[in-house]
Parts: sequence; C-alpha cells; structure tokens
Amino acid sequence: MPNAPNSPRCHVLIPCAGNGSRFGGDIPKQFQMLAGKRVIDHSLELFISMVEISSIWVGSSDPSLQLKSSLSKPIHVTPTGGKTRAETVLNTLKWMIDQGVPLTDWVLVHDAARPGVRKKDVQHLISAILQDASLCGGILALPLADTLKQSSRDHAMIQKTLSRNLLWQAQTPQMFQLGQLKTAIEQAHTNDIEITDEASAMEAMGFSPLLVKGSLENFKITYQEDLSTMEQLYHKESSMRIGQGYDVHRLVEGRSLILGGVVVPYTLGLLGHSDADALLHAITDALLGASGLGDIGKHFPDSDPLYKNVNSADLLKKTYQLIQEKGLELINLDATIICQDPKLSPYISSMIEKISESLVVDASRVNIKAKTNEGLGYLGNSEAIEAQAIVLLQMKK
Ligand code: MG
Repeated sequence: MPNAPNSPRCHVLIPCAGNGSRFGGDIPKQFQMLAGKRVIDHSLELFISMVEISSIWVGSSDPSLQLKSSLSKPIHVTPTGGKTRAETVLNTLKWMIDQGVPLTDWVLVHDAARPGVRKKDVQHLISAILQDASLCGGILALPLADTLKQSSRDHAMIQKTLSRNLLWQAQTPQMFQLGQLKTAIEQAHTNDIEITDEASAMEAMGFSPLLVKGSLENFKITYQEDLSTMEQLYHKESSMRIGQGYDVHRLVEGRSLILGGVVVPYTLGLLGHSDADALLHAITDALLGASGLGDIGKHFPDSDPLYKNVNSADLLKKTYQLIQEKGLELINLDATIICQDPKLSPYISSMIEKISESLVVDASRVNIKAKTNEGLGYLGNSEAIEAQAIVLLQMKK
C-alpha cells in the first residue's frame, strides 16, 4: 500500500461482531432489513460514495459475511471479531497495520447500527480534524437536549437532576490516527479501564478529542422500536411522487383555441365538453396520477352538465386543492404541446403564468414546451392538438 506522508488518508473501520442482546431475536440488528436493505449497507453505501475515504474494513466473526463490493475502493471483511466492541476495533486496527496501512493514516470507526449517518457531518468531522494539526482526532456528537435524572440504585426513583450543561451524546464516526488509537485501546486494556467508545480510550491517555455536532438521525439502533423509527424517517425522505398525463382534442371550426388557460388566436379551436384545454387536462391528469387519485374523468365526468364548457383552469385549481389535502405539494411540472399550427411560442410565458397562478406556485416550477409534428399524421395535418405532462410531488415538510 503506497505511503503518502504529506496527505494522510482516511479509512473506515466498522466493528460488526456484536449480537445485540438488547435488540432481541436471531438476526443481529446490523443485518436487519431497513428500507429494502440491511442496516449495515446504508452506512457502507455512504462511505463508498465518499471520495475522502480510501478503504473500508469490517471486523467480523462470521467468515461467510457477504458485503457489497465497490469499484472505487477496497472493502475488506476481516476475521477480527472479538468479544467486545473494543476488542474487535483493536484486532481490526492490528490487521490493518499488518496489511501495510501507515500508522499516521486516519481511521473513522463507525457503528454498524448507525445507518442514518449523514455525509455532510462526516465531511465536517474530517475537514475539522485535518485542518488543525494540533488535534488528536474527534467524534460526531450531539449536545444533550433532555434533562438528565440520576436514579436510585434500584432504578425506581429519581435521586437527583444532573446539569445537562456541557454534556454531549457521543455518536460515530470517531476519527483518530491508526497508531495512536491502537496504543490508546491497548493501554486501556492494560490498565483495566472500561472503554465504551474510541474517544474514551484517547481521553484515558490524556488527549482531548474534538466534538463535531452531528445529526439527530444518526442514532444507534439498539431496540426493535429504533428500527421502526428509522423506517419512518426513510419513508419520509422518499415521499416523492411522480405522475404522467396525456390528452388530445380534435381541431374544429367555430370553437376558441384555449391552451394552458390562454386564448390563442386561430381559425380553429379544440372540440370538447369543457373548454377542451388539452394542456391543462394533461397536467390535471399528471397531478391526479402522482397522488394516486385516478384520472380527470373520474373527478370531472364529461357526462355531467356541470362541466359543460367549464373553464379547465378551475378544474386544475380544484385538483391541486385535493392534492394539498393529501399533504402533497408540487416540486415541478414539465409539459409538451404537440401542435403543427399555429405557432405557440409567443403564448408560452402567458401559459406558465396562468398555470402557476392556478396552482399558487412559483413560475420557476412550471415548464411548458411546444413542438410541431413535422407534418406527420393527424397532428401534423392540424386535425388535433396533443399535450403531455409530467409532475413531481412531495409530502409537505
Ligand atoms: Mg381533455
């Protein structure tokens, strides 16, 4: 492994030998399924995607453990699982040294059961430590928000309230230089000091690791209910909905041509029960589709006299209200009108204005395009005008 003394590299070490007795069940918590993949795979994917990380080492006691592979960096599963977390970390550090990783390289030790770690937090940790040569290393942590109570020995009563001032909750990754961390854990073992994380081993050596504020989402999965909480967070983050819409109307004499709520001067107009605004109908269908509410015919049937010659902008407004009632809002909308004649480009900005007014969204969220059909088929012969729309919605925060 090449040594680069001027630019020490960063590696990730994940101790992955725990059985998680507090979690219960046969499958250790780091291998439980979370949002479609194993808990450990979430943080592995994050570290794989980070250019700051050179290699990943997973200390395991299971020789058959299969992990993802990556073209960008080596992922080593090492037979270094110990009886305690500290033992697994120490064994893996020694393994890394045997494999030629320089003692001055940095190691970020991360809990396998913290799938919610955020890239920006890890980047802050790395840059804060690498920027200041006087630092021994540091950890992600959160300032304590809750009031702390100390219980009686039988855990039944409050004995006293502790001041939360100056108190932080330690998270991972915890980042130290390989050689120093190995020495610190060995020293703690020799002196019979109980260490529950890497920072405490460094503290016992007299070092003061840096505290870098992490995120609430980076909590450790310890109990079954933690997994459900994390599932909900993932569900919330992936609450985007996409929808597609299409419409076509015949061009006839004696009707106004209305597209996107704008009257376009032309000798022909679109035939329909309503004002036959094919663009607004396509957008309405896309919105209904994205929110799982069916289609325009279901909500505004053309058999209903109520909708005779109705202004389609009103239908669009009503539809968007339904969508907002479901807790959804528009991220963006993109639509294409296929129209041989007349030329629509002079009217596009008015259409965008009308649509964004109907939806009460910023005009930057709406994009409308117009194309001819190159003279081909019924669209090219100006027998009809077609519109296609696609929308992206998200759950309101
Ligand atoms: Mg229609």
